[in-house]
Amino acid sequence: METEAAGFPDLREQFADWIGEIRGKLVHNQSMADITWFRVGGPVQLFFIPADEADLMHFLSKLPEEINVTIMGVGSNLLVRDGGLEGVVIRLSVKGFAKITVLETNHVQVGAAMPDIRFAHAMAKEGLDGFTFYRGIPGGIGGALYMNAGCYGTETKDRMVSLRGVTRQGEPIELTNEQMGYHYRKSNAPEGVIFTSAVYRGFEGDKDVLERRMRDLTATREESQPTKHKTGGSTFKNPEGQSSWKLIDDAGCRGLQIGNAQMSEKHCNFLLNLGGASAHDIETVGETVRQKVREKAGIDLVWEIRRMGKFEPGREVHEFLGEDVFIGKV
Ligand SMILES: Cc1cc2nc3c(=O)[nH]c(=O)nc-3n(C[C@H](O)[C@H](O)[C@H](O)COP(=O)(O)OP(=O)(O)OC[C@H]3O[C@@H](n4cnc5c(N)ncnc54)[C@H](O)[C@@H]3O)c2cc1C
Repeated sequence: METEAAGFPDLREQFADWIGEIRGKLVHNQSMADITWFRVGGPVQLFFIPADEADLMHFLSKLPEEINVTIMGVGSNLLVRDGGLEGVVIRLSVKGFAKITVLETNHVQVGAAMPDIRFAHAMAKEGLDGFTFYRGIPGGIGGALYMNAGCYGTETKDRMVSLRGVTRQGEPIELTNEQMGYHYRKSNAPEGVIFTSAVYRGFEGDKDVLERRMRDLTATREESQPTKHKTGGSTFKNPEGQSSWKLIDDAGCRGLQIGNAQMSEKHCNFLLNLGGASAHDIETVGETVRQKVREKAGIDLVWEIRRMGKFEPGREVHEFLGEDVFIGKV
């Protein structure tokens, strides 16, 4: 959906000159509040949904180097600031990038726009074990590959064999698990690579057992997490040997609320938009929590949620709410 927000200058005509024919969809000033889980964020100058990998490669190969490119998945781990994003945001189309191909010896290839939950169910139907953890993660495979998403003891890195992607220059690239340099909720993927598909390895399993395991996992999640809210999942990474939720609780921040943004009562490492919050409110709650945990425990929490975009003029949020430390583009 297009917004009439203040937004950025319309580059569509210039793009037509630069890029020529594309088969995907190009939207000017797309509101990020309409498409991220938090339901906040300003406009993006140009939003591109490529039709398929060839369309993506063509687009990137013609796009001038100085234009900023951001890739997003389904936005379940993103906090986009109220001033929006300059340049292009790309989101892969489900039609062009969500194919599943079962290969030999328990391997499977999956497109990066495939939702994790659908992938988990499809693998259970195949009787391929190793993917039930994705039932708990509401993102897409591209985001999982980037974030090394995981839960209940299994992470993306434990199953992923290799991936295919496209560089900022529009060239194809293949990367092995080792080359991704995975660690906790992080990869060392080369800057700017857009993942388009990945090969995973599972192991034989029983369809009914897998479905039952996913039902149990869903029930546990719903009991312990505010899964039906506007949120970004775990806000902060767990420091080595510690739980962020416990540090937040001990610092008295369970339920902490500023405007309509709140640290969840149910799971206090989840930030919530209670309805009508701005990105500014949400980030301010996050930095308030970091400051209080620092004061109480001497630990600096690290954001797991990816923050991006510009602040609205005069509404910057400073790290630990300090005046002297400016949080720039992260
Ligand atoms: C209720 C809730 C529960 C959650 N529980 C968990 C959990 O248990 N475990 C967990 O790990 N996470 C969890 N998350 C966080 C989130 O779902 C995961 O990080 C998920 O993998 C993000 O995928 P996404 O498609 O939404 O990516 P986005 O949020 O859109 O993007 C996340 C990052 O991935 C990059 N990215 C996305 N697609 C691509 C691509 N194709 N190529 C290259 N880079 C890409 C983006 O640039 C961005 O930096 C939860 C979130 C919510 C809202």
